Amino acid sequence: MSARYSGLGVSPGQVVGPVARVHGPQLPAHDDVPVDVEQETDLAADALAEVSGELESLAERAGVSGAVLVRQARMARDPSLVALVHQFVRGGRPAPRASWEAFGAYRDMRASDPLRPAPDAAELDDVRDRVVARLLGEPPPGIPDPGTPYVLVARDLSPALTATLDSGRVLALVTERGGPTSHTAVLAKALGIPAVVGAPGVAGLATGQMVAVDGTSGVVTADPDRETVGAMQGQRMSQRGSADIGADTGADIGPGRTKDGRPVQLLAAVGGKNDVEEALAAGAEGVGVFRTEFLFLDRESPPTVEEQASAYREVFDAFAGRSVTTRTLDIGADKPASFVRLGDQPNPALGVRGLRVARRYPQLLSDQLAAIARAARESKSDVRVMAPMVATRAEAAWFAARAREAGLNNVGVMVEVPAAALRAGDLLEVVDFVSVGANDLAQYAFATDRADGELADLLDPWQPAFLDLVATVLRAGAVNGRSMTVCGEAASDPMLAPVLVGLGASALSMTARMIPVVRASLARVTAEQCGLMAAEALDADGPEEARHRAERVLSS
Ligand code: PEP
Ligand code: MG
Repeated sequence: MSARYSGLGVSPGQVVGPVARVHGPQLPAHDDVPVDVEQETDLAADALAEVSGELESLAERAGVSGAVLVRQARMARDPSLVALVHQFVRGGRPAPRASWEAFGAYRDMRASDPLRPAPDAAELDDVRDRVVARLLGEPPPGIPDPGTPYVLVARDLSPALTATLDSGRVLALVTERGGPTSHTAVLAKALGIPAVVGAPGVAGLATGQMVAVDGTSGVVTADPDRETVGAMQGQRMSQRGSADIGADTGADIGPGRTKDGRPVQLLAAVGGKNDVEEALAAGAEGVGVFRTEFLFLDRESPPTVEEQASAYREVFDAFAGRSVTTRTLDIGADKPASFVRLGDQPNPALGVRGLRVARRYPQLLSDQLAAIARAARESKSDVRVMAPMVATRAEAAWFAARAREAGLNNVGVMVEVPAAALRAGDLLEVVDFVSVGANDLAQYAFATDRADGELADLLDPWQPAFLDLVATVLRAGAVNGRSMTVCGEAASDPMLAPVLVGLGASALSMTARMIPVVRASLARVTAEQCGLMAAEALDADGPEEARHRAERVLSS
């Protein structure tokens, strides 16, 4: 019988193909033989320097994940790593083993460092694997090229690995760890290929083994039988059929709208000028969230007002005549910036991040607002500005006053904290708009770290309690007569998009690659069906039932 693995479908589509596994070095063995301390330490120091250089050159070609690669390159250059290797070599370990152990000690050391945020485990492991592979004379961790299209299976995918991915060959991504907003999920959507994350046991699949991947239901079937393969092919045909229907109705181009013509703005999430081309090609009607922190990460000091203004203009100018919702700095927690000292926070995601950073560093915010205002004045796009991680009306009012002082007149806040969702009506009294930040709203509603794959089921945007919160926010918008945006990965789920519209969303912001898919999905449903799908999903007991009940509206 075929083995089945259940995870979370994070990018839709079905494929069947052979497995290719990410390889990396194992813990190097060590015999208790005397080592030449100086020579082994030098070997490790050279390997660290070479890996740092390799990551820097990967960063230059990597687009959005470039900031992460630069951060990894900097980790490899940290002198305390060489000092730790030296200690382990003195304890009788040869360079590969000493380096492996040094990375473990480095992780512990950084975890208790009050001045620097702890490094991301997957990023650190990737640097370690690169250093150890180099010392062992093995190829760097990576993706073997079997010469034919394959399903990439890994425990987790680091940004460094994905930067080397040959996207033309990869049929689907399957990982044991990761959640709906993980790097793998974002990447798969960007590539437009199916993906399943958080599927326990898949790392044990063998290279070359055939698997059927269903990126919608989250099921991975090893050695699928003929019926499974046949059923998938049948489904693909019917999906193609619906895409054709979209084309007939003109839904492959132009603004988003339901079958009966209700407009739903389709906006792109961008991180800088590198994302602009794809967003325009996908027909984005504007930018739903411009994540400005990419300009700030991995620097010793913040960019100047001039530097910021010219970087913002590059994005604003590309969207002349359209709206660009620019988010002020969202650093802290999963987005550390080295020039901001946040100290030893027991739980950084619940600590000083987003707008809260401005309590300690008010100049950072006023400079950024000045730069956004200057770029807005000089460009022809409709610039809106919003703050992340706002919890109360008082915070929203404080931010709005500063933004208006800077000369910005379309000011909003993200609703990412349940307290803000429950009081969205109050927030709308002091700001011009709010935008649901679905990634963080799910994380905070379910008390579940968005980077923790083990708990990914709790972050499923089909969770009825999450939909309740979204509905609360969107209703507050309807009462106040405002247009309402949902951003975050939830908006790019082609089946959830009509539900969000049914709950009251008038704009959806997503990774550009998913815009055509969501556009086609909305073109198949009427506004009334959106409302029915929303009601069914809200009435369900759990995410699976919510999905099925919403789907049933379409088939009835
Ligand atoms: C969100 O939280 O939904 C969001 C859009 O912001 P980010 O993913 O950058 O935290
Ligand atoms: Mg967020």
